[in-house]
Amino acid sequence: MTEVSVAKEDVAATGDLVVLKSVNKHFGALHVLQDIDLTIARGEVVVVIGPSGSGKSTLCRTINRLETIDSGSITIDGRPLPQEGKELARLRADVGMVFQSFNLFAHKTVLENVTLGQVKVRKADKKEAEEKARRLLDRVGVGAQADKYPAQLSGGQQQRVAIARALAMDPKVMLFDEPTSALDPEMINEVLEVMQQLARDGMTMIVVTHEMGFARSAANRVVFMADGRIVEEATPDQFFSNPRSDRAKDFLSKIL
Ligand code: ADP
Ligand code: MG
Repeated sequence: MTEVSVAKEDVAATGDLVVLKSVNKHFGALHVLQDIDLTIARGEVVVVIGPSGSGKSTLCRTINRLETIDSGSITIDGRPLPQEGKELARLRADVGMVFQSFNLFAHKTVLENVTLGQVKVRKADKKEAEEKARRLLDRVGVGAQADKYPAQLSGGQQQRVAIARALAMDPKVMLFDEPTSALDPEMINEVLEVMQQLARDGMTMIVVTHEMGFARSAANRVVFMADGRIVEEATPDQFFSNPRSDRAKDFLSKIL
């Protein structure tokens, strides 16, 4: 990936990449996302934290349209997120997603996992797609595993393959939903380091995580959610040293 020279402080000047306006979502009687307004600038790294059940995963899933919304709007790089059709497949490819469970194709090799989407969705040439896949696998430190199957890899390696697979689509924004929560402790750092490097390279990232060290060092902004609402937004420094809301104070007292 190319180095981006935009300083973190200058992100606002380069434009908004993801914009949610008054987004509402229900699951039956549950109002899981309530009037969510959220703007992510190009190159910005936003960490989303909050108690279990507060709507963090649903928020991520609406941004790449794994879930529909009931009202409001979501735009990615100035284009409204359509609800269906070919345009949706293309726009969804602009949003890379990495889940807690690695979601690799079990019956495909690591290399095939990182090549498939490029050929199918991006219509890339197979040979070029493989070369790109190898470059990306090298970049996340699993180049030597290219011909293995996911089950032969450690959790940390699988998650790094999942990151490479998402990057292979040249996403404009990467969503991470608790990417280290299912990992054994000794593997968490190798995944966080890959994410740190991505952030330094200028990737726009939305990261749901309880890894406060990552939030402190990589995030431009922390978004705190509770009960389907954004309760608080602040820089990591402000948020961790001086949370304003009682909900955030309570949450931090339990996890720090
Ligand atoms: P978080 O990621 O913050 O833990 P989620 O977005 O996963 O929260 O869930 C928010 C709420 O929505 C929870 O109460 C959860 O049980 C509920 N929920 C999530 N997905 C569904 C679904 N597909 N159907 C019904 N309820 C759901
Ligand atoms: Mg979740």
